[in-house]
Amino acid sequence: MIVLEVFTIFNTHERVRSNLHNIHPYQPGISEDQLRKEFGLAHLIKLNSNENALGPSPLALEAIARELPKLHLYPDGGSDLLREAIARHHALRMEEVFAGNGSDDIIKLISETFLEEGDEVVVPFPSFSQYGFGAEVMKANIRSVPLRSDFSYDVQALLAAITNKTKLLYLCTPNNPTGTVLKYSEFTWLMERVPKDVFVIVDLAYDNYATDPERFFVTKDALIYPNVCYLHTFSKLYGLAGLRVGYALGNEQVWSYVHRVREPFNVNRVAQRGAQAALEDVEHVRRSVALAQRSREQYATLENYGLRVIPSEANFTLVEVGNGIQAFEQLKQKGILVRAGYPGLESFVRVTFGLDEENEVCIEALCEFGRA
Ligand SMILES: *Cc1c(COP(=O)(O)O)cnc(C)c1O
Repeated sequence: MIVLEVFTIFNTHERVRSNLHNIHPYQPGISEDQLRKEFGLAHLIKLNSNENALGPSPLALEAIARELPKLHLYPDGGSDLLREAIARHHALRMEEVFAGNGSDDIIKLISETFLEEGDEVVVPFPSFSQYGFGAEVMKANIRSVPLRSDFSYDVQALLAAITNKTKLLYLCTPNNPTGTVLKYSEFTWLMERVPKDVFVIVDLAYDNYATDPERFFVTKDALIYPNVCYLHTFSKLYGLAGLRVGYALGNEQVWSYVHRVREPFNVNRVAQRGAQAALEDVEHVRRSVALAQRSREQYATLENYGLRVIPSEANFTLVEVGNGIQAFEQLKQKGILVRAGYPGLESFVRVTFGLDEENEVCIEALCEFGRA
């Protein structure tokens, strides 16, 4: 009886932080576990989460297997060996590398490090939803700056959105979900004008897939700007989305504060070893990049059927199908899973590149929307 009474008088809605009322849990693409539940073991073509169709890096798998007997031991809290390896990979110092439980973790930690109630965060739109999420959790205000109609960056508009309350500016290149890139000249134009006390986060999750010679890319003197960091992930190119490892390159003073808000063991033991091995897996990287390039050409053929395909520099592409959600449902009936329903992109589906034969099946199914 007493227990029941306690439950009835505990009003969760009233007691939680008020800004949580407007935050909804992130809706990822349907997971493999959910798929099994919903469809049984029928063959499915999963093109909804930008995962690597080739699977995980084989070198990572070997390193993970070797590490399993040590699972009773805590990992190295500072991920030192992994950070050293990443530093070598980018010709930087280990203090300039921060490792996280996926780049999602790092985005949240950067938000917790910098943001107070009422601060402002400038984000491109449409782009990766985690940037806004990190801001909302901290009661900061989001200023969304639309991309141009061809989904290129509008750097003048980004600059104009910055006020004296702006703490963070996000850039994502190639941008998810559009696949379009920020140009090198646009980045430098912006950095010459952005106030020096605004921290700029450049998300390079799909960087290795990009080939546009005009795109922004990280050079040797990447860290000349003390107020910029670059986010990378092992989830896409290295095929380790299930492992959860991401990293950021930037000013070590910034990381000295971000370390204060992270969990003591935020990157687990197998993740540290697997990611380190994946960095060395040149062959897997080469095959992954080659697959994305072939896939781009495959999807471009949809233009012949009157469908608009947004030229993508990533491992996915937007295809204009009329009604995105309807197309999503129709494709799902055929066992093809894509992503739809992005605000501002109602007429599109986002298709992750699959294996050659998976792309063929998907492209054939998409042709229907061209003729209709
Ligand atoms: C997938 C993705 C990431 C990676 O997130 P993880 O948490 O490392 O899996 C980061 N940024 C963008 C834009 C992405 O699409």
